Amino acid sequence: MNDALALEVKNLSVDFHTDGGVVHAVKGADISVREGAILGLVGESGSGKSVTSLAVLRLLGTPRAKITGGEILFRGENLLDKTEKEMCAIRGPHIGMVSQNALSALDPSFTIGAQLVEVIRLHQGVDKATARVKALEALDLVALPESKRRMKAYPHELSGGQRQRVVIAIALSCRPELLLADEPTTALDATVQKQILDLLLDINAELGTSILLVTHDFGVVAHVCTDVTVMRRGDVLESGTVERVLTQPQHPYTQGLMRAVPHLRLDEATRAVPRADRRLFEFRTEEKEAVDVA
Ligand code: ADP
Ligand code: MG
Repeated sequence: MNDALALEVKNLSVDFHTDGGVVHAVKGADISVREGAILGLVGESGSGKSVTSLAVLRLLGTPRAKITGGEILFRGENLLDKTEKEMCAIRGPHIGMVSQNALSALDPSFTIGAQLVEVIRLHQGVDKATARVKALEALDLVALPESKRRMKAYPHELSGGQRQRVVIAIALSCRPELLLADEPTTALDATVQKQILDLLLDINAELGTSILLVTHDFGVVAHVCTDVTVMRRGDVLESGTVERVLTQPQHPYTQGLMRAVPHLRLDEATRAVPRADRRLFEFRTEEKEAVDVA
């Protein structure tokens, strides 16, 4: 990892024009993802995390949403200056997206193999046979058991965790430099949640993919992230390495959160090992002590 940035969001503001007036969802946010890093974008519900990550892809999905200022720098260019056609060439090949609900991200009427092959052919312009080989590779990358047989499965025939692996496989099939993952494990039970988080760690270590991980859970941040940015009500309150923010939080809000969850402070043993090996340690958000700032 180095200090070059995979993504730099500068002074981003996003408004929603609702019948009840203008909602300032993101208010001048600065967010940096270092190359090869896993940045946790953390905050309670409604703090603007999802809106920020959707703004990066210019997928706010309603004409009522307006990006009113700022820059989103990716590969040396401001994504806010891009045409929709140019954005289509960035979404997928350069920036992948994994959302919370794998079921809604997959089409129920096609096999997962067909969906993977379609995405690979669309973005990589390869023939069907080559796309099938690449699809199988993608499923093996995310450690989907019996990948060859599973190519013929429909989404409903897979478990929630397996479906999320498929969604991650689709996002990674074009080897994007940056992966945006919005609460990718929130819908899963604790054991499966850990498996998917460990998969993200493996992908980061093996492919060097930079990851922006949206979560409301400091336990998730402690387990997988190198860096963290804390948001609240549209504002960025604090950013830094996970070690620094968890052990020496600067903002009173973060300090309050850390006081409330002292077991989340990185202990000496955990700090001494490379982050990719933290899976050897017990995952510290067991359900009974889940830290949920939402
Ligand atoms: P979270 O941090 O939970 O992901 P969001 O980014 O989804 O929060 O939302 C931030 C705020 O943006 C919400 O509290 C809400 O006020 C506003 N917002 C989000 N989506 C919409 C929408 N479609 N219409 C109006 N306001 C919205
Ligand atoms: Mg959200």
